[in-house]
Amino acid sequence: MNAVRIPVLMYHRVGEAHNDWERKYCVSPQRFADHMRALARAGWRAVSIEDFFAWLDGRAELPEQSFLLTFDDGFLGVHEHAAPVLTALGWPATVFLVSQLIGKRDDWCEAHNPSGVTYPLMDASHIRELRGQGFSFHSHTRNHADLPMLDDSQLRDQLAGSRTDLQALLGEETAYLAYPYGHHDDRVLQAAQAAGYQAAFSVQPGFNRRDVDRFRLRRLDVFGTDSAAALRRKITLGSNDGSLGHSLRYGAGRVLARLGLNNN
Ligand SMILES: [Zn+2]
Repeated sequence: MNAVRIPVLMYHRVGEAHNDWERKYCVSPQRFADHMRALARAGWRAVSIEDFFAWLDGRAELPEQSFLLTFDDGFLGVHEHAAPVLTALGWPATVFLVSQLIGKRDDWCEAHNPSGVTYPLMDASHIRELRGQGFSFHSHTRNHADLPMLDDSQLRDQLAGSRTDLQALLGEETAYLAYPYGHHDDRVLQAAQAAGYQAAFSVQPGFNRRDVDRFRLRRLDVFGTDSAAALRRKITLGSNDGSLGHSLRYGAGRVLARLGLNNN
């Protein structure tokens, strides 16, 4: 069967977490491996971002249970811990880079992380190495800016400037954007189009069907606390809530809908 809706998974850091805030946004290397192997066993298969957009634009079909795997921020742990797992599975992935912080640290997290610590990001050599292993790299702005807060000229700098930086790094055009923190509004969306992006990813949960707004693509947030079973429920339901209770309510709702008993 051909896919009619495709989920996009969003990960951030892969590594060890040291407090509850980190445990949400960081998945341990062992857990990441468990996640990917559980998806593979259940019949899921990661596709490249090029294949995802070819499908979205109706230029190609993809089988059911295809998904797009994305990592925001470009943490070094993705190179160290996630890449070997993905290479073994033959699965591609997409990383959204903060183009002025290549080879530096996630300084924007310092104020959010209760421990006030930062973690290393990939440098140019890590990025080049992963490109040879099926990874694609796109934009997460220049400095992880909260885009709706910027004036027009700052917005242009973060969006168009990041494309310029990444073109210099990668030697090819950067077509896709992930909004930092998922924050965007109509002005940001228009600025992203004007800067030359073809599409942008939000953090709004749900599936992507072919009629989805290209500048409000949906993604499922994978937390470090998600078990492999919870992840399988998330990707099946298209929801950030991978709890068993949610899964049962969703299943009951589908049964009632089929019987014509569900009014909502
Ligand atoms: Zn980010």
